[in-house]
Amino acid sequence: MAAPEPRVIRLLMELRRQGITDTRTLGAIERVPRELFVAEPFLDQAYENRALPIACGQTVSQPLVVAMMTQALEVTDRTKVLEIGTGSGYQAAVLAQVCRRVYTIERHKPLLQAAEERFRRLRIHNITAKLGDGSRGWPEQAPFERIMVTAAAHDIPPVLVEQLAIGGIMVLPVGEFDQDLLKVTRTEAGIDIETLGGVRFVPLVEGVAEE
Ligand code: SAH
Repeated sequence: MAAPEPRVIRLLMELRRQGITDTRTLGAIERVPRELFVAEPFLDQAYENRALPIACGQTVSQPLVVAMMTQALEVTDRTKVLEIGTGSGYQAAVLAQVCRRVYTIERHKPLLQAAEERFRRLRIHNITAKLGDGSRGWPEQAPFERIMVTAAAHDIPPVLVEQLAIGGIMVLPVGEFDQDLLKVTRTEAGIDIETLGGVRFVPLVEGVAEE
C-alpha cells in the first residue's frame, strides 16, 4: 500500500496523542479517504480533527469521536454491527474495515443514496444500508453483537438493548445538547454502563424524513 499523505499522518498522530491506541482502528482511519465523505467546500479540512457539515443539516463526526467509538466497540473481523445514522457513510466505512458486516440505517434518503454510492466507489462490499427509523433497530437482523448509535437519544433506547446479544456492546451518545458517550454492555441480568466522555451529536429523530 502507498505511504499515507502527510495530512493523514498528522491526523493519526493526533488520534494517538488523544488516546487511540487500537491499531486496527488507526489502520481503518488510515485506509478510508475522508475527503470522499465531506462536502466540496470543506475538502481542505477533510483530515482536520473536526466535525463537518453534510447534506440535510447533518454532520460527519470528528475523526477522534469516530475513532473513540470504533475502539470502544471492541469488534473483531467476525463481528456483525448495527449502526444507526449512516449520514455520510464515513463511520460505516471505518467499521467495515474492522468487522465482518455492518448494517446501517439512515432516515434521510439523499444521505443514504450518497453513502451507498461512496461504498460502491470504494468497493466496500460488507455494508448493508437501508432507509428507515433506526430508533426501532433492525429486528429482522437482530440480535447484534455490537450496536453504534451516531445520533443522540434522550435515554438508552430499550428497543436497541433488546436487539443487542447477551455480552454485546452498544456505544451511543445520550442527552440533549451536551451529551455523554456511553458504552453499554448487555449482561444476563440487565446492562452495565460506562461513561466515555462528553460529545455533541445531532439528535436521534423518530420516523423517516419527508424530503
Ligand atoms: N455516522 C455518520 C454521522 C451522521 S450524523 C457519519 O459517519 O457521517 C447522524 C445521522 O443520524 C444523520 O444523518 C441523521 O439523519 C441520522 N438519524 C437521526 N435519527 C435517525 C433515526 N431515527 N434513524 C436513522 N437515522 C437517523
